[in-house]
Amino acid sequence: MVKTKKKISLAAGAFLVLLILFFAFDKQIQIQYQKKKLEQLNVILITIDTLRADRLSCYSDKYVQTPNLDSLAREGVVFESCISQTPLTLPAHTTILSGTYPLYHQVRDNGGFVVSPKLTLLSEILSEHNYSTSAFIAAYVLHSKWGLNRGFDFYSDTFKDESGDKIISLDEIQKRAGEVLQDASVWLAKNKDKKFFSWIHLYDPHAPYDPPSPFKEKYADLPYEGEVAYTDEELGKFFAFLKKEGLWDKTLIVVTGDHGESLWEHREETHGFFVYDSTVRVPLIIRTSFAFPEKRLKNVVEHVDVAPTILAMLNIPVPEFIQGKSLLGLMWGTEKNWPDTAFSETYYPRLHFGWSELSAWYHQNWKYILAPSEELYDLPNDKAEKENLALPSDEQKNKMKKTLLKFIAEKSRQALTPEANQNLDREAIEKLASLGYVSSFSDVGQRRDLADPKEKIKVHNDLNDATAIVEKILAQDPYIIDAYMFLGNLYYSQNRFNEALSSFLEVLQRKPDYNFAMINVLNCLINTGELDKAVSECQKCLQVFPKDTIFLFTMGDIYFLRKEYDQALSYLFSAMKIDAGYAEALNKIGEIYSVKHDYLKAEEYLKKTLEINPEMTKALFSLALVEEALGNQTAAIAYYEKELEFEPLNFKAAYNLAELLNKAGKQDEAFQYYKKALGANPSFNIPYFMIAKYYLDKKENLEEAIKLCEQGIGIVPQDKYTALGYYVLSDIYSYLGDKNKSDFYYLKGKSILQ
Ligand SMILES: [Zn+2]
Repeated sequence: MVKTKKKISLAAGAFLVLLILFFAFDKQIQIQYQKKKLEQLNVILITIDTLRADRLSCYSDKYVQTPNLDSLAREGVVFESCISQTPLTLPAHTTILSGTYPLYHQVRDNGGFVVSPKLTLLSEILSEHNYSTSAFIAAYVLHSKWGLNRGFDFYSDTFKDESGDKIISLDEIQKRAGEVLQDASVWLAKNKDKKFFSWIHLYDPHAPYDPPSPFKEKYADLPYEGEVAYTDEELGKFFAFLKKEGLWDKTLIVVTGDHGESLWEHREETHGFFVYDSTVRVPLIIRTSFAFPEKRLKNVVEHVDVAPTILAMLNIPVPEFIQGKSLLGLMWGTEKNWPDTAFSETYYPRLHFGWSELSAWYHQNWKYILAPSEELYDLPNDKAEKENLALPSDEQKNKMKKTLLKFIAEKSRQALTPEANQNLDREAIEKLASLGYVSSFSDVGQRRDLADPKEKIKVHNDLNDATAIVEKILAQDPYIIDAYMFLGNLYYSQNRFNEALSSFLEVLQRKPDYNFAMINVLNCLINTGELDKAVSECQKCLQVFPKDTIFLFTMGDIYFLRKEYDQALSYLFSAMKIDAGYAEALNKIGEIYSVKHDYLKAEEYLKKTLEINPEMTKALFSLALVEEALGNQTAAIAYYEKELEFEPLNFKAAYNLAELLNKAGKQDEAFQYYKKALGANPSFNIPYFMIAKYYLDKKENLEEAIKLCEQGIGIVPQDKYTALGYYVLSDIYSYLGDKNKSDFYYLKGKSILQ
């Protein structure tokens, strides 16, 4: 009896194994078969601006009904935890279309950053694979001038309001979803027999919230939700069009939001300022005509994954530079080692207000935010991110911080420099440069302890309120010139140069020879990189005021930015002829000669600058660099010392001075300046190692020296200067008689330099 039972169960076991094998085999065949079908699909990528995941009813039924996107979601795969890499339109779209983090593509803001021509976009890859490509853009922030148009045969980005000299707010130039989808339909109907890739951008949920009827009435108290409902209805019509044209079953449709909207959570009105989930958690739906085994996935995924997923689905090799991962394995249900991590950042507080940037790291249920005062959230139990669990010694927090810093260092390696950057938004670039240690002439970067955006949100909102009040005054009486001037300056102080420009142009319309308004117009144009326009505007100013040294100087500055140095010099000398004591112009002439490596002339003009204004710190720093280039160490040391009297936080001056003193054999003095450089910029690694080396040479404070090396190494683990840290560590352990550790660190240092 017992025997028989065993036999049967053996047979049953064998059958079960066969059955499992059969299903596994069947699944493989199914996957192979569907892969073939996938390859033949067209692609439509729909990005809905400012769309929170929880405002689609397929994510949450609490707020608004979106039946058309819901039915798309039912046929496709819904990613429940998709994270946008940054809550700003142009940077987020650059990530979606390139599959790379902002750490790599370096587009950190709207208007002021142009996508590097070295960045390969999804559109370029698909175009190379013979797809007809098109894009339909709903807002000026994605205009082709910002560089996302590469690889598109057709890029529809014309806006009715964009005409003549009058530039209105970047945010306000937009098209309704109905209009954008109509344009797209015309192109699709014409190109439906070709293999195609279309990117459709819809902007309606972006502020100001003004849904058309009947959504205006239906969502009277929830206008943002009304815009979402309107967008869904227009998409319903568009989906019907695709079905009618026979494209529905032949097309892969990907829908996401570029970022969310805060809607006053954390006291933030819109988006960009923080990296909380309200602005970085977005929907992601991928739909084809046949079903995937997985319908809803809880895994943490990112925008960087979108481009590699589309490529993998079309069976096109994913280029190596792409930093995201294909989601296809998750959709098949075959991916077992998904890391469930995500990164997000914002530089908006830093670039616009000089407050600290923020970065966030997601790992499974946890979210860590790196800020002057750190934050840690247990997301499943605290979706609204209200209870900060970060304690100074918290193990989870420290672990995530370490991973985040390592991730930032890794993904920033070989980062691109958007070329047009140097002409754009100079202040922004200077601020970015101050994070590193570039010793150029025009960016004497100052580091101060940056404020935590959490503590500044009220100031930010007050500034917005002030702007709104002045706008209201102008709506009642549009002839108050001073109000336009005031508004322009408010915008300018927030680095909102396009809006500032439009205010100053309003002033000039009413008072055409108002020279301060003219200067402001020129500064706006310089800051938005419109250097050609700046030249022509400045010429107009010079016709009105031919002897005005400020306009002559500005012309010199514009040509300097265009790297046309001889032209620049001729305007600056004209200014000097009228006013021989114009220190700014003298300093600029000195800078130009330095750039041209004519150090003797540079020295002459920078010295003249300081005779007139002994406290002009940029001239002091430039002169110190020039003296170094001329081999006059003593003079260079004196200028650095003087510079530091006025600007004690100029870490570059402190560091350069320390190096000079070190070379001159004055180790004790050098040590003091390395400490100064470290105090002024703790994210600059070399001083850690130099101080440690000083202790080692003195055979004192060795415990402290080891700690300093470890701290310095942690900043940029793979930097070539980090090798120095390992070598110092190796020497310390060698002195302490620990041969194993000494060898270990020596090899680590060596491996970096290989
Ligand atoms: Zn956006």
